[in-house]
Amino acid sequence: MGAIDLHARPSPDFERKLRETEELLVRAAAEFSPLVQASSLGAEDTVLTHLAAQLELDIPVVVLDTGLLHPETLDLLERLTATSRAPVRVYQPVQESVVHFVAREGKDAMYRSVELRKSCCHLRKVEPLARALEGQRAWITGLRREQSAARAEVPLVDRSEPRTKFNPLAAWTWGDVWHYIGANGVDYHPLHDQFFPSIGCAPCTRAISLGEDFRAGRWWWEEENAKECGLHVKDESQGVPA
Ligand code: SF4
Repeated sequence: MGAIDLHARPSPDFERKLRETEELLVRAAAEFSPLVQASSLGAEDTVLTHLAAQLELDIPVVVLDTGLLHPETLDLLERLTATSRAPVRVYQPVQESVVHFVAREGKDAMYRSVELRKSCCHLRKVEPLARALEGQRAWITGLRREQSAARAEVPLVDRSEPRTKFNPLAAWTWGDVWHYIGANGVDYHPLHDQFFPSIGCAPCTRAISLGEDFRAGRWWWEEENAKECGLHVKDESQGVPA
Protein backbone atom coordinates (compact mmCIF):
# COMPACT_ATOMS: atom_id res chain seq x y z
CA MET A 1 0.00 0.00 0.00
CA GLY A 2 1.33 3.43 -0.81
CA ALA A 3 0.79 5.94 1.97
CA ILE A 4 -0.64 8.44 -0.42
CA ASP A 5 -2.27 8.52 -3.78
CA LEU A 6 -3.89 11.76 -4.86
CA HIS A 7 -5.44 9.85 -7.72
CA ALA A 8 -6.79 7.11 -5.46
CA ARG A 9 -10.07 5.74 -6.65
CA PRO A 10 -12.91 6.27 -4.22
CA SER A 11 -15.36 3.54 -3.31
CA PRO A 12 -18.19 3.00 -5.81
CA ASP A 13 -20.59 4.41 -3.21
CA PHE A 14 -18.37 7.35 -2.24
CA GLU A 15 -20.98 10.01 -3.13
CA ARG A 16 -23.53 8.35 -0.87
CA LYS A 17 -21.00 8.14 1.97
CA LEU A 18 -20.09 11.78 1.46
CA ARG A 19 -23.76 12.84 1.66
CA GLU A 20 -24.25 10.79 4.83
CA THR A 21 -21.12 12.29 6.36
CA GLU A 22 -22.34 15.81 5.61
CA GLU A 23 -25.77 15.04 7.07
CA LEU A 24 -24.19 13.62 10.20
CA LEU A 25 -21.98 16.67 10.69
CA VAL A 26 -24.96 19.00 10.25
CA ARG A 27 -27.02 16.97 12.72
CA ALA A 28 -24.18 16.83 15.23
CA ALA A 29 -23.70 20.61 15.09
CA ALA A 30 -27.44 21.29 15.35
CA GLU A 31 -28.32 18.83 18.09
CA PHE A 32 -25.16 18.36 20.16
CA SER A 33 -23.76 21.82 20.69
CA PRO A 34 -21.37 22.54 22.27
CA LEU A 35 -19.11 20.08 20.53
CA VAL A 36 -15.58 20.03 19.14
CA GLN A 37 -13.59 18.21 16.52
CA ALA A 38 -10.45 16.54 17.89
CA SER A 39 -7.75 16.79 15.23
CA SER A 40 -4.27 15.25 14.98
CA LEU A 41 -3.90 17.14 11.69
CA GLY A 42 -3.71 13.83 9.82
CA ALA A 43 -5.50 13.23 6.52
CA GLU A 44 -8.85 12.18 7.99
CA ASP A 45 -8.97 15.13 10.36
CA THR A 46 -8.17 17.64 7.65
CA VAL A 47 -11.04 16.19 5.60
CA LEU A 48 -13.45 16.69 8.51
CA THR A 49 -12.25 20.24 9.18
CA HIS A 50 -12.65 21.07 5.48
CA LEU A 51 -16.10 19.49 5.30
CA ALA A 52 -17.31 21.41 8.36
CA ALA A 53 -16.04 24.67 6.84
CA GLN A 54 -17.76 23.93 3.52
CA LEU A 55 -20.99 23.34 5.41
CA GLU A 56 -20.43 26.58 7.37
CA LEU A 57 -20.45 24.73 10.65
CA ASP A 58 -18.30 26.59 13.12
CA ILE A 59 -17.19 23.54 15.05
CA PRO A 60 -14.08 24.39 17.11
CA VAL A 61 -11.04 22.29 16.27
CA VAL A 62 -9.08 20.91 19.22
CA VAL A 63 -5.40 20.06 18.69
CA LEU A 64 -3.20 18.48 21.35
CA ASP A 65 0.31 19.93 21.22
CA THR A 66 2.13 17.24 23.13
CA GLY A 67 5.45 19.06 23.02
CA LEU A 68 6.87 16.31 20.80
CA LEU A 69 5.11 16.94 17.50
CA HIS A 70 6.93 16.94 14.17
CA PRO A 71 7.95 20.40 12.90
CA GLU A 72 5.73 19.70 9.87
CA THR A 73 2.75 19.23 12.21
CA LEU A 74 3.43 22.56 13.90
CA ASP A 75 3.70 24.25 10.50
CA LEU A 76 0.36 22.78 9.43
CA LEU A 77 -1.17 23.87 12.73
CA GLU A 78 0.03 27.42 12.08
CA ARG A 79 -1.51 27.38 8.58
CA LEU A 80 -4.76 25.95 9.93
CA THR A 81 -4.95 28.57 12.67
CA ALA A 82 -4.39 31.32 10.12
CA THR A 83 -7.04 30.10 7.67
CA SER A 84 -9.69 28.29 9.68
CA ARG A 85 -13.14 29.86 9.95
CA ALA A 86 -13.75 27.87 13.13
CA PRO A 87 -11.71 28.52 16.28
CA VAL A 88 -8.62 26.34 16.68
CA ARG A 89 -7.96 25.48 20.32
CA VAL A 90 -4.53 24.14 21.20
CA TYR A 91 -4.08 22.21 24.45
CA GLN A 92 -0.72 21.39 25.99
CA PRO A 93 0.22 19.06 28.83
CA VAL A 94 0.77 20.39 32.34
CA GLN A 95 4.42 21.41 32.11
CA GLU A 96 5.19 20.43 35.70
CA SER A 97 3.98 16.87 35.03
CA VAL A 98 6.13 16.62 31.91
CA VAL A 99 9.23 17.94 33.66
CA HIS A 100 8.80 15.50 36.56
CA PHE A 101 8.14 12.55 34.27
CA VAL A 102 11.18 13.22 32.07
CA ALA A 103 13.41 13.85 35.10
CA ARG A 104 12.27 10.60 36.70
CA GLU A 105 12.05 8.28 33.69
CA GLY A 106 14.17 9.91 30.98
CA LYS A 107 13.13 11.35 27.65
CA ASP A 108 13.14 7.93 25.96
CA ALA A 109 10.99 6.24 28.61
CA MET A 110 8.27 5.34 26.08
CA TYR A 111 10.55 2.73 24.53
CA ARG A 112 11.23 0.92 27.82
CA SER A 113 7.78 -0.45 28.61
CA VAL A 114 4.14 -0.24 27.57
CA GLU A 115 3.33 1.17 31.01
CA LEU A 116 5.80 4.04 30.67
CA ARG A 117 4.64 4.71 27.11
CA LYS A 118 1.04 4.87 28.32
CA SER A 119 2.04 7.16 31.19
CA CYS A 120 3.65 9.50 28.67
CA CYS A 121 0.52 9.37 26.48
CA HIS A 122 -1.63 10.01 29.51
CA LEU A 123 0.11 13.17 30.60
CA ARG A 124 0.75 14.52 27.10
CA LYS A 125 -2.55 13.51 25.44
CA VAL A 126 -5.23 11.99 27.62
CA GLU A 127 -5.24 14.62 30.35
CA PRO A 128 -5.14 17.57 27.90
CA LEU A 129 -7.97 15.96 25.90
CA ALA A 130 -10.04 15.63 29.07
CA ARG A 131 -9.58 19.36 29.63
CA ALA A 132 -10.48 20.07 26.00
CA LEU A 133 -13.70 18.08 26.31
CA GLU A 134 -14.84 19.61 29.57
CA GLY A 135 -18.29 21.09 29.12
CA GLN A 136 -18.75 19.57 25.66
CA ARG A 137 -21.78 17.46 24.79
CA ALA A 138 -20.04 15.65 21.97
CA TRP A 139 -16.83 15.34 20.00
CA ILE A 140 -15.93 14.41 16.46
CA THR A 141 -13.03 12.17 15.45
CA GLY A 142 -11.53 10.90 12.22
CA LEU A 143 -11.51 7.22 13.23
CA ARG A 144 -12.04 4.78 10.35
CA ARG A 145 -12.81 1.07 10.54
CA GLU A 146 -10.13 0.30 7.99
CA GLN A 147 -7.34 1.74 10.15
CA SER A 148 -6.82 -1.34 12.32
CA ALA A 149 -8.44 -4.50 13.60
CA ALA A 150 -9.13 -2.71 16.88
CA ARG A 151 -11.17 -0.11 14.99
CA ALA A 152 -13.07 -2.53 12.75
CA GLU A 153 -16.34 -1.99 14.61
CA VAL A 154 -16.14 1.79 15.06
CA PRO A 155 -19.73 3.13 14.93
CA LEU A 156 -20.76 6.36 13.20
CA VAL A 157 -22.23 7.55 16.48
CA ASP A 158 -20.93 6.18 19.77
CA ARG A 159 -23.22 6.89 22.70
CA SER A 160 -21.45 4.49 25.05
CA GLU A 161 -19.09 7.16 26.38
CA PRO A 162 -19.75 9.91 28.92
CA ARG A 163 -20.34 12.17 25.93
CA THR A 164 -21.44 11.33 22.41
CA LYS A 165 -18.62 10.64 19.98
CA PHE A 166 -19.16 11.09 16.24
CA ASN A 167 -16.95 9.16 13.84
CA PRO A 168 -18.31 10.46 10.51
CA LEU A 169 -15.59 8.80 8.42
CA ALA A 170 -15.99 5.36 10.02
CA ALA A 171 -16.94 3.76 6.69
CA TRP A 172 -14.55 5.75 4.49
CA THR A 173 -11.66 3.98 2.79
CA TRP A 174 -8.14 5.37 2.40
CA GLY A 175 -9.04 5.92 -1.25
CA ASP A 176 -12.13 7.92 -0.22
CA VAL A 177 -10.02 10.15 2.04
CA TRP A 178 -7.43 10.92 -0.64
CA HIS A 179 -10.02 11.31 -3.34
CA TYR A 180 -11.69 14.01 -1.22
CA ILE A 181 -8.34 15.71 -0.45
CA GLY A 182 -7.29 15.68 -4.11
CA ALA A 183 -10.68 16.78 -5.47
CA ASN A 184 -10.98 19.66 -3.01
CA GLY A 185 -7.38 20.86 -2.82
CA VAL A 186 -7.23 20.30 0.93
CA ASP A 187 -3.97 21.38 2.62
CA TYR A 188 -2.61 18.15 4.08
CA HIS A 189 0.27 17.00 6.26
CA PRO A 190 3.46 16.71 4.16
CA LEU A 191 4.64 13.63 6.03
CA HIS A 192 1.88 11.69 4.27
CA ASP A 193 4.02 12.09 1.14
CA GLN A 194 6.84 10.31 2.98
CA PHE A 195 4.77 7.19 3.75
CA PHE A 196 3.46 8.23 7.13
CA PRO A 197 -0.23 7.24 6.95
CA SER A 198 -0.73 7.87 10.67
CA ILE A 199 1.00 10.80 12.32
CA GLY A 200 1.53 11.38 16.03
CA CYS A 201 4.46 12.46 18.21
CA ALA A 202 7.85 12.39 16.49
CA PRO A 203 9.47 9.76 18.78
CA CYS A 204 6.56 7.36 18.25
CA THR A 205 5.84 7.68 14.53
CA ARG A 206 7.75 6.27 11.58
CA ALA A 207 7.18 5.73 7.89
CA ILE A 208 5.75 2.39 6.79
CA SER A 209 6.71 0.05 3.98
CA LEU A 210 4.61 -1.36 1.19
CA GLY A 211 2.19 -3.94 2.54
CA GLU A 212 2.37 -2.80 6.16
CA ASP A 213 -0.72 -1.99 8.19
CA PHE A 214 -1.94 1.64 8.47
CA ARG A 215 -0.94 1.78 12.13
CA ALA A 216 2.36 -0.09 11.70
CA GLY A 217 4.26 3.18 12.00
CA ARG A 218 2.86 3.91 15.47
CA TRP A 219 4.58 2.39 18.54
CA TRP A 220 6.11 -0.18 16.20
CA TRP A 221 8.13 -1.77 19.01
CA GLU A 222 4.98 -2.85 20.89
CA GLU A 223 2.60 -5.77 20.54
CA GLU A 224 -0.30 -5.00 18.20
CA ASN A 225 -2.99 -5.11 20.89
CA ALA A 226 -1.22 -2.47 23.03
CA LYS A 227 -1.28 0.15 20.29
CA GLU A 228 -3.68 2.84 21.37
CA CYS A 229 -2.71 6.10 23.02
CA GLY A 230 -5.69 6.11 25.35
CA LEU A 231 -7.64 8.81 23.53
CA HIS A 232 -10.06 6.28 22.13
CA VAL A 233 -10.06 3.77 24.95
CA LYS A 234 -12.87 4.15 27.42
CA ASP A 235 -11.67 4.98 30.90
CA GLU A 236 -14.87 5.48 32.84
CA SER A 237 -12.94 5.48 36.11
CA GLN A 238 -11.76 8.96 35.28
CA GLY A 239 -15.08 10.11 33.93
CA VAL A 240 -13.57 11.15 30.65
CA PRO A 241 -13.54 9.52 27.21
CA ALA A 242 -9.85 8.71 27.28
FE1 SF4 B 1 4.64 10.18 24.59
FE2 SF4 B 1 4.90 8.80 22.32
FE3 SF4 B 1 2.52 8.95 23.54
FE4 SF4 B 1 3.56 11.08 22.31
S1 SF4 B 1 2.86 9.14 21.35
S2 SF4 B 1 2.59 11.07 24.26
S3 SF4 B 1 5.77 10.81 22.77
S4 SF4 B 1 4.41 7.96 24.31
